[in-house]
Amino acid sequence: MADFGATDLDAFRTEVRDWVEANFPAALKGKPNPMMREERSNPSPDQDAWRKAVGAKGWGTPTWPAEYGGGGLTPAQGRIIQQEFGRAGAYNPIGGMGVMMFGPTLLEYGTEDQKKEHIPPICRGEIQWCQGFSEPGAGSDLASLQTKCEDKGDHYLINGQKIWTSGAQWADWCFCLVRTDTSKKHEGISFVLFTMHQPGVEVRPIPLIAGNSPFCETFLTDARAEKKDLVGPLNGGWTIAKRLLQH
Ligand SMILES: Cc1cc2nc3c(=O)[nH]c(=O)nc-3n(C[C@H](O)[C@H](O)[C@H](O)COP(=O)(O)OP(=O)(O)OC[C@H]3O[C@@H](n4cnc5c(N)ncnc54)[C@H](O)[C@@H]3O)c2cc1C
Repeated sequence: MADFGATDLDAFRTEVRDWVEANFPAALKGKPNPMMREERSNPSPDQDAWRKAVGAKGWGTPTWPAEYGGGGLTPAQGRIIQQEFGRAGAYNPIGGMGVMMFGPTLLEYGTEDQKKEHIPPICRGEIQWCQGFSEPGAGSDLASLQTKCEDKGDHYLINGQKIWTSGAQWADWCFCLVRTDTSKKHEGISFVLFTMHQPGVEVRPIPLIAGNSPFCETFLTDARAEKKDLVGPLNGGWTIAKRLLQH
């Protein structure tokens, strides 16, 4: 990446400011990001246009590599984008757990094919991810998780229950910790990805006393994960999970 000096950064700020002025729909000024909310499945034309515009530039994930749809920019340039969005009252339409946790982890641990498949739709804000880690009997002691994952030859079959899955009712994909070896604890856990849009996945939002439901219970009954969607080695998921939680 180029070493941008102060003058270059000033020029970049002008570029971002002009672009935001030209592309940010005025009607969205001061509005929150709908990424983790109900209207995500039914965005307004303005919301849709803003997501597509920022996604095409890679500016929602400014420091991620350009080859996977990120901005390929420096942290200083990323901060300028954030500041100029803030100045205009614009939200970053590219967000959620794919950006916060899963994407950076996949960039580190994923194969080239996995990065090519999963990172660009995150950068464009097309795919929303949820985190399938916690279980009713595995919270603080996460490594006691029991959700079972069996090798069925050309795919994996997953059975169990996850809880506190934030935004699962709006998610397209799940990054999930599963048990692939019952004879070991931490060393018997794998990190797999699966689509939420399949019959084996049932999501039940947990209503809070305030009326909203930011978390869900997620029931997995013969849910299917493809072999290509195992991240890292079999039984090597704990290391990846710890790295993900650092994000
Ligand atoms: C805002 C929010 C969003 C979340 N989103 C997700 C998500 O998307 N996906 C996901 O998988 N999980 C999610 N979680 C779950 C979270 O990451 C933890 O796994 C979970 O909250 C902790 O488990 P638990 O609720 O079963 O509590 P427990 O593990 O039952 O703990 C309850 C209490 O007991 C204490 N305690 C536990 N063990 C010990 C011990 N050995 N000694 C002393 N004290 C102990 C704890 O400190 C705590 O105060 C979310 C949680 C929050 C708050």
